[in-house]
Amino acid sequence: NKNILEIKDLHTYFYTDNGIVKAVDGVDINLKEGSTLGIVGESGSGKSVTALSVMNLLEGTKGKIVKGEILLDGKDIVNISKEEKRKLKGSQIGMIFQEPMTSLNPVLKIGDQIMEGLLQHSDMSKQEAKEKTIKILEQISIPRADKIINEYPFQLSGGMRQRIMIAMALVCNPKILIADEPTTALDVTIQAQILELILELKKIIGMSIMFITHDLGVVAEVCDEVVVMYCGRVVESGDVFTIFEDPQHPYTKGLLESIPKLGVEVERLDSIPGNVPNPKFMPKGCKFEPRCKYSMDICKEEEPPFFTFDNEHKSRCWLCKKEYGGEL
Ligand code: SF4
Ligand code: MG
Repeated sequence: NKNILEIKDLHTYFYTDNGIVKAVDGVDINLKEGSTLGIVGESGSGKSVTALSVMNLLEGTKGKIVKGEILLDGKDIVNISKEEKRKLKGSQIGMIFQEPMTSLNPVLKIGDQIMEGLLQHSDMSKQEAKEKTIKILEQISIPRADKIINEYPFQLSGGMRQRIMIAMALVCNPKILIADEPTTALDVTIQAQILELILELKKIIGMSIMFITHDLGVVAEVCDEVVVMYCGRVVESGDVFTIFEDPQHPYTKGLLESIPKLGVEVERLDSIPGNVPNPKFMPKGCKFEPRCKYSMDICKEEEPPFFTFDNEHKSRCWLCKKEYGGEL
């Protein structure tokens, strides 16, 4: 499949009062058409900033894309006019976030909110937009769609609101859907339902999805490919089976070990000790070195490049180099 989204050598920096924070520092990511790509990492890894950069949502923040390209279906979406950026949102890029309540307008009826996008990005009449709205609600299994459109966000449950957000994101048939921790704020049962829905949509409309999460358990459920980020860099990427069966970066390994196992009494999470480094004191070599139990001399001195395995599997760790073992 062709790449529907290509992120090339992206650098997004934040110019804060305390200095420059290199939130995304040289990231390459490809999203294949019809595929779901999970971007995983702890907070501070740069995964959300990568998404914000694609969605053109840095405006009004201290963040700025200082270098790199983002191509949607082959077309640059960084160096375009404000007007073009506005059109892109909603019509070509659909988005869902963690907190539906903050993205929904509390004083607008559900139906009007979904229709707003349609009326803005197409020349549909109000009646056509209404019919399309009901259709999309039915498509995502919302019962009593003709009633729901006349209700307000507060009248709906959290899970229902997130479904409405998905409807809003999809109503204009965008080329890609970006989901940033869409299930994190929901309880486990609802979370499972929303993931189920996303899987279903993928099957029905062959959606291309960029799925941002800190939870590898969620990745296992919905993703085809995985990109693991740390300190504004990609440290490992590959298809979901390879990443789970044969991780080659100690950070990925640590994330996998920290997934709570269902039905197993966990005394303590075998997660990764330490914290993401302070951006002001970024290690010179491998950024994960201060937390890595495999650390070697070279790790302190030189940042590892990518080493490539079969199936486009890549890891940015010195252990992958032959003279250091060639494998984790
Ligand atoms: Fe650990 Fe060295 Fe690999 Fe970094 S390069 S993850 S410090 S072994
Ligand atoms: Mg985030």
